Amino acid sequence: MNMKDVLSTIETEDIKYVDFRIVDLLGRQHHVTVPAYAVDEDTFVNGVAFDGSSLTGYKSIEESDMVAMPDPATAFIDPFVEEKTLNIVCNILNPDNSPYDRDPRGIALKAEAYLKNLGIATAAYFGPESEFFLFDNVRYASGPSGSFYHIDSEEAYWNTGKEGQNLGYKVRNKGGYFPVQPTDTQADIRNEMCTLLTQSGIKVERHHHEVATAGQGEINFRFDTLTRTADNLLLFKYIVRNVAAKHGKTATFMPKPIVGDNGSGMHVHQSLFDGDTPLFFEKGAYANLSETALHYIGGILHHAPALIALTNPSTNSFKRLVPGYEAPVNLVFSKGNRSAAVRIPVAAVTPKASRIEFRTPDSTANPYLAFAAMLMAGLDGIAKKLDPREMGFGPLDKNIYDLSDVEKNEIKSLPGSLAEALEALESDHEFLLAGDVFTKDLIDSWISHKRDEIQQVERTVNPKEYELYYDL
Ligand code: GLU
Ligand code: MG
Ligand code: MG
Repeated sequence: MNMKDVLSTIETEDIKYVDFRIVDLLGRQHHVTVPAYAVDEDTFVNGVAFDGSSLTGYKSIEESDMVAMPDPATAFIDPFVEEKTLNIVCNILNPDNSPYDRDPRGIALKAEAYLKNLGIATAAYFGPESEFFLFDNVRYASGPSGSFYHIDSEEAYWNTGKEGQNLGYKVRNKGGYFPVQPTDTQADIRNEMCTLLTQSGIKVERHHHEVATAGQGEINFRFDTLTRTADNLLLFKYIVRNVAAKHGKTATFMPKPIVGDNGSGMHVHQSLFDGDTPLFFEKGAYANLSETALHYIGGILHHAPALIALTNPSTNSFKRLVPGYEAPVNLVFSKGNRSAAVRIPVAAVTPKASRIEFRTPDSTANPYLAFAAMLMAGLDGIAKKLDPREMGFGPLDKNIYDLSDVEKNEIKSLPGSLAEALEALESDHEFLLAGDVFTKDLIDSWISHKRDEIQQVERTVNPKEYELYYDL
């Protein structure tokens, strides 16, 4: 849609409200709602004013009056609001209508412009696979020191010690992928999510139960350009969460909600195109990968320790990145191997569908920043002709979890904690500043915000500490 389409849709669809959405530094959406009769051409020229000072990550805004500038191409009718409402994603501008340089969506747009200016490719495509769990409800119950987070769920019994519980039939550990109903209790909910995704303009490709014991799902939607895909991912999370809520459930995208079972990743498929020409394909080469694709992989793996401070930015992220759960732990690339950080899909791949899959990210990432950062790492690899084969990054076509210690010592590991990743980002971020795509200010405030999260977690008493120390 363009502005004229939006204004005529308001008339023809009898829209009552227009909901303007912006994203904070961490990737949470916020909204301000305007009656449809107050929306006109001026709204698309002057934007909508909002107070930016209380949004996470934007604290240092001197002027709290900021502008949300709607992008009409993102408009869709909200399926969850009673009064007919049109939602529109906005860019964040300063009061003088210049782009606000911490706006994550603005950074995503700059990354795309940078790519085009380089002349390497006309478009970068991103396809995220955002896994999630649905739980019946989440109760925050107090433990002895007010510190237990307790999930009380039909599907997730991690309080197995409680008497009288957990006596019935359960899906066996890691048995979720992917027996039919009645073992799969969430097929109808996922269908409903997909119907609403389709109605909202997202092309769904498939959905299925994921590997975790029960309650883990995945819905794949079609790849698109960088900013569009980040918009789509936030819309996807909105729809998943709201359909879950309609069914008395909550959806969580946190990477490792259940100890001892598979976590939720957000693998990101990526490719570059020059017009209609796919740049990652070369027939007959290893995994049919072109030199450009190899260099892109070289950039991703070389910068990975810093990159994952943006693609895996929670303390919980690193509880997923452990051996044995199909999540990557090592910095290698491989065709087909799911334990490698970069996998090259080879099944049913045509030249146009040739792509790389970076398996490390998870959905606690802000998609605008994460996709932009991955592109910048890949482009740096292309510019510097970084060859992953010469840098000890593989290819490795064995199950990495099964390697001997000697073999394991030869390959590099991902950072083991958010603190390590932030240190890496602190010393390696020049590749993000190229073309003024990211600013030093944004990186500094990201690092400081995330260090604060680490401190909050470290100061919180953890259930495991009761197991280890309560009766010592
Ligand atoms: N859930 C796994 C992860 O944490 C991925 C499973 C899959 O290959 O789709 O990355
Ligand atoms: Mg999956
Ligand atoms: Mg995948």
